Amino acid sequence: MKIALACIALASLTIVVSSARQPAPSRTVVYEGARVIVGDGSAPIDDGVFVVQNGRFTAVGRRGATTAPASAEHVSLSGKTVMPAMINVHVHMGYEGYTSWGAANYTDRNVLDHLQREAFYGTAVAQSVGTSPTEAAIQFQRDQEAGKFPPAARFLFAPGMAPPNGGPDAVLRVATSAVGAINEVSTPEQARAAVRRMALGRITHVKLWFDDRGGTYPKLTPQVTRAIIDEAHTHGMTVHAHAIALADQKFVVSAGADVLVHMAQRERVDDELVALLKEKRPYWATVIGLGDPTDVCNPDPFFEQALPASVVAKIRATTERRPLEPSCGPPAPNAAAREETMAYNFPRMIASGARIVLGTDTGVHPGHTFGSGEHVELARWVQLGLSPMDAIVAATSRPAQLMGVTDMGTVAAGKRASFIVLDANPLENIRNTRRIRAVYLDGAAFDRNAMLAKWRKADTGSR
Ligand SMILES: [Zn+2]
Repeated sequence: MKIALACIALASLTIVVSSARQPAPSRTVVYEGARVIVGDGSAPIDDGVFVVQNGRFTAVGRRGATTAPASAEHVSLSGKTVMPAMINVHVHMGYEGYTSWGAANYTDRNVLDHLQREAFYGTAVAQSVGTSPTEAAIQFQRDQEAGKFPPAARFLFAPGMAPPNGGPDAVLRVATSAVGAINEVSTPEQARAAVRRMALGRITHVKLWFDDRGGTYPKLTPQVTRAIIDEAHTHGMTVHAHAIALADQKFVVSAGADVLVHMAQRERVDDELVALLKEKRPYWATVIGLGDPTDVCNPDPFFEQALPASVVAKIRATTERRPLEPSCGPPAPNAAAREETMAYNFPRMIASGARIVLGTDTGVHPGHTFGSGEHVELARWVQLGLSPMDAIVAATSRPAQLMGVTDMGTVAAGKRASFIVLDANPLENIRNTRRIRAVYLDGAAFDRNAMLAKWRKADTGSR
């Protein structure tokens, strides 16, 4: 039965590939007149011009300061704003099926669907952290690099490490156990051996959970955690560490984790963490926007367009607040206190040297669609005091640096031409990142209308 299902999935995937594959654009195109947000924090180029050839920017500058071949095609973007496509360093792909959720959904076809949703909303690279089965993920990356899939965000992944029966939250834990996605380790020796295997497989990022979920979960010991980080660094690998409690955040930062995942929401940042951040300057994936239900409740077509109507209706009908679950109920009793703590912690983390990067946790729990969460996270940052320009840097060039995708993340000569065309300026209002006119991946327009048609079809089919 399982084999038969896999064959059907594979057969239909092949059809999608052959009908959607497009030749690489070899013509030269000059895009003129947009306000260009480069993505590195430099001042925007008003009335900018950029040239795209063979999927890359070949020149970027002010009108009159940029040259292009006489034969080039010209596209006017006057009145628009262009920013680099985003890079999301923290999602959990493969389990979300919109009308179902779980390990049974984990197929290449579904991972591809999630990457297409990311691209639809302006993300060019997304990293699945800790919850993708390693062999399948490596094969998917190979196939995508070989051009076997239709256009979508680029798939990156980091294997996960936790003690037996530890790691992801209770919902995700069921799914990851079924597909054997987590490397379970109990001793420093096991941890080092697991990391060495990853290094041999040319894996460059690894995720660990350092959390006992309020005393309900086994937690990695400090010795095992140090062994993971030390062995990873020996092999030039980057360590993402999930830690929520203040003491746990201090420990993973002091132990040398490269990326701190999550924000302490119940305890205030203290002088000890501030000193550690100043010394270590870790990257920081805040991952705070996921539980925000207001955009589906308001309602906003920007989110609804990618969700089946039945899912939207279910979210609106859910009035009981549960952690991570989208609902339109009243705020949780502790919401105001948490908000106050976050408003205290966020600017202090940034001022102390935490290098903020975009991560959303999408896919961790049913009912959140891939790609839209990026826009929620950016708006949350700005609400908590980050400038829109710094928010865009944290969604583009900084995650590119973290992930080692050095030919992405800015609108600059030599980089891949993956960018978003916006109808309004996000530097004036960060919510304008949602005013998407077009998304380009490697110089080719991503077919957003085809995605909308696909989702509408799936939606009517499911009712
Ligand atoms: Zn996560």
